[in-house]
Amino acid sequence: MSRRDQYLIVGAGPAGLAAARLMKERGHRFVQVDRNLGVGGIWNTNSKTPLYDSVRLITSREMSSFLGSPMPADFPDFPDRRQALGYLETYSEATGSLPDVRFGLGVSRVSPADRQQWRVTFDDGTVEIFDGVLMASGFNQTPYMPRRYTAFKGTVIHSSEYWTPYEFAGQRVLVVGCGNSAIDIAAECLSASATVDISIRRPRWWIPLYLDGIPSDLPDLASLDLNDPLCALKDQLRLRERLIGENEQFVTRGWRVPITLPMELPFVESPNLPTLLGDERGCIQGNVTAVEGSRVHFATGPSKEYDTLIVCSGYRDDIPYLDGSLKSWDSYILNIFNRRFAGLYALNNLHSNLGGFWTAEISAQLVVMLLDANATQERSGWDRVQEWASRPFDLRAGGQFGECPQHSPTVYGLRYIAAARDLALQLGGTLQVHPLWCWEGLQ
Ligand SMILES: Cc1cc2nc3c(=O)[nH]c(=O)nc-3n(C[C@H](O)[C@H](O)[C@H](O)COP(=O)(O)OP(=O)(O)OC[C@H]3O[C@@H](n4cnc5c(N)ncnc54)[C@H](O)[C@@H]3O)c2cc1C
Repeated sequence: MSRRDQYLIVGAGPAGLAAARLMKERGHRFVQVDRNLGVGGIWNTNSKTPLYDSVRLITSREMSSFLGSPMPADFPDFPDRRQALGYLETYSEATGSLPDVRFGLGVSRVSPADRQQWRVTFDDGTVEIFDGVLMASGFNQTPYMPRRYTAFKGTVIHSSEYWTPYEFAGQRVLVVGCGNSAIDIAAECLSASATVDISIRRPRWWIPLYLDGIPSDLPDLASLDLNDPLCALKDQLRLRERLIGENEQFVTRGWRVPITLPMELPFVESPNLPTLLGDERGCIQGNVTAVEGSRVHFATGPSKEYDTLIVCSGYRDDIPYLDGSLKSWDSYILNIFNRRFAGLYALNNLHSNLGGFWTAEISAQLVVMLLDANATQERSGWDRVQEWASRPFDLRAGGQFGECPQHSPTVYGLRYIAAARDLALQLGGTLQVHPLWCWEGLQ
């Protein structure tokens, strides 16, 4: 199939690579750019990256593979960053994407042009018009640094600037946050620093990488009644039961067990929690209330002096090259399709309990289905998506699921796949999903 329209894919990380493969397969013409000098997105540590030297995938090899392109069987269950990059490079070569990417070229602005087209300004000042823009530029670009920490009179860095613990040798370190990076960084600083405290604002569930000997992100759909409207809730309650013991073992070390369901709020999966809390030099502190000189005050307990603060407060889910309201997450249907403007598509714009590589692939599939429908069907894909969006669809597992001010929504995998499948049908396509996430009637 050959098409007249020309699209732009911004980014050649996992999402951009998945999109490029599908666009190519379906004959949609596109240009792809990446500000980096190679593929792989944040996993390409030869470029600017928020990763640290020791980082590993916390999503399993199985759940971090693109459809039809499994990671090599000799990879560990949770590959390291070099293996993740090797996999993405091999994938881009196998799918023939590599020669088409314009590396070292960034997009600095995307704005609506006439006739539902998009005006794109590149870093070198050139301007081009495209029929649509697939934004695969990732959500770890703008570190979120609460202002109060900049008053600290010692070394203060964001986790995106951290590489190894050795530069903090012999120091009193406070790590702020309770995400995977915070736990990993605090645990490994124990090997070099004098003391390591970690400030945790609110309780989080710790989900070990393995439950009953298998990677905990592998779904067990056989144990669920997927026709039951309470299926998601029951799944969460079951998981909660399994996690209580795992989390209670650390209560004597200051770990608090949440009262929420496991996926109501962001959870933590770092395998380094036992290392951190198994060492008397690793200490949990409460929320930071004030910083004065090199002294930090906490919501509970005495204040303390530190040499270094490592702030692991995440990233603003920002797309810097978009203007005002185009950035707002609630203006994207299923986190992908801009509600007001045809032709603006966000890929991988969500946090979920699914592997990030193939949620990217799900969003890419839906965008390509919409473009297919635009090209081949009487009613445009855009109209179909609008109609679909008028139905209520709750992507959460209940409660206040994933409400973090700096984050785009966190969605519950089972619901997200069900919604994506439904939208695919509306677009006249069939959603391909990982075999482990397939259930009767899905394909
Ligand atoms: C510490 C850490 C650990 C993580 N661990 C996991 C994990 O275990 N499993 C998992 O699934 N996910 C993990 N993630 C999430 C990670 O974001 C995804 O794995 C994945 O990299 C997302 O792919 P992406 O293509 O959407 O974005 P990215 O990997 O961020 O790639 C975006 C690309 O777009 C390019 N780009 C950005 N802006 C522009 C622009 N204006 N112009 C041109 N190019 C641009 C960038 O150079 C980059 O190459 C982790 C994230 C972090 C920070």
